Amino acid sequence: MTNITDNFENIRTKIAKYERSANRGQGTTNLIAVSKTQTQEALLAALSTGHRLFGENKVQEAIAHWTDFKRDYPDIILHLIGPLQTNKVGDAVALFDVIETLDREKLAVVLSDEIKKQGKTIECYIQVNTGEEEQKAGISPQNVKEFLGYARNDCGLSVTGLMCIPPVDEPPALHFALLKKLAYTNKLKNLSMGMSADYQKAIALGATHIRIGTALFGARDRG
Ligand SMILES: *Cc1c(COP(=O)(O)O)cnc(C)c1O
Repeated sequence: MTNITDNFENIRTKIAKYERSANRGQGTTNLIAVSKTQTQEALLAALSTGHRLFGENKVQEAIAHWTDFKRDYPDIILHLIGPLQTNKVGDAVALFDVIETLDREKLAVVLSDEIKKQGKTIECYIQVNTGEEEQKAGISPQNVKEFLGYARNDCGLSVTGLMCIPPVDEPPALHFALLKKLAYTNKLKNLSMGMSADYQKAIALGATHIRIGTALFGARDRG
């Protein structure tokens, strides 16, 4: 557990350094600690460093991880960073603050109804399939503008950002640059991009949110 404490300190130092070299303001990059597959002990170690912003990729696992901690630490902020099935939307809206994986019209409709029903404030990011990979979720780059209009105007969702997961076999910088351009042209302020292996590049290209798992918690057996 002590190395979790060290890892948080180490990553925070690196983020500050990368922000400086990119001429960005200190603290303009939000660190999302990706806590999927971790033990409650590991989460507590992260919370004990003062960290409050976490990402999970599965709704049920997130409920198991965070329901009790949210009572003790009401300032925890949770981002959903994995695919959301429509039958899990009720649970997701109850638990999460930001849904980063808005990726289809059906989900926009169901989310909108559920957010109204629960009277919650939830921000959404559109997941963009920057590599146009067949097996990957997300809106194609050329359809972002139209989908954003639909999600906002027809569904009344609060869409404030974009997220991407670049193809594993391509330089991520191209995808980060494309996502940044899409956010700029669509006037969206949040850019969720960059993971343990490539967050330096993501910060250089304007990420407002980086999603870091392994570099904070160590290697995962699954997920
Ligand atoms: C697991 C996951 C991450 C974190 O990946 P690491 O390489 O462990 O930092 C980031 N984003 C998404 C969508 C993930 O599923």
